[in-house]
Amino acid sequence: MYSKILMLRFPQKEVQQPIVCHLAKDFDLVFNILNARILHRREGVMVMELSGTKKHFKDGVRFLKEQGVRVQNASQEVSRNDEKCTHCGACTAVCPTGALWVRRPDMSVTFEQEKCSVCELCVTACPVRAMDVTPSNRTFSK
Ligand code: SF4
Ligand code: SF4
Repeated sequence: MYSKILMLRFPQKEVQQPIVCHLAKDFDLVFNILNARILHRREGVMVMELSGTKKHFKDGVRFLKEQGVRVQNASQEVSRNDEKCTHCGACTAVCPTGALWVRRPDMSVTFEQEKCSVCELCVTACPVRAMDVTPSNRTFSK
């Protein structure tokens, strides 16, 4: 079984199309959606774990690209530079998974990397660029 975590970026015109269903129906792939979001400029972003035989995996990814979907390997991780972070809280407003949250009563911002889906929304939201995306050593093959 071949398995990877992918980030899919759907162009505006494809956001409403059931493209992902074809991965199961036509390519015999199993997908587990970890995060899905429509950004302000109407681009759709989805993080999913995709599993199947290597051939089916390749065919499925080729199909996605033919539909205009940008497919990226999400085997990256986000980390925080604690020396730069001012605990302003801006990132907590955009984090869809609750990986960044305000601890009370001291109102410090906590980052729980294991909850992070690597959507990168906090990277651009952070005014002091404290959040970094780096290649991950994690492997997702089963
Ligand atoms: S937006 Fe940046 S500086 Fe503010 S709490 Fe988040 S990581 Fe820290
Ligand atoms: S990349 Fe940032 S905003 Fe996205 S899930 Fe991870 S911590 Fe939250």
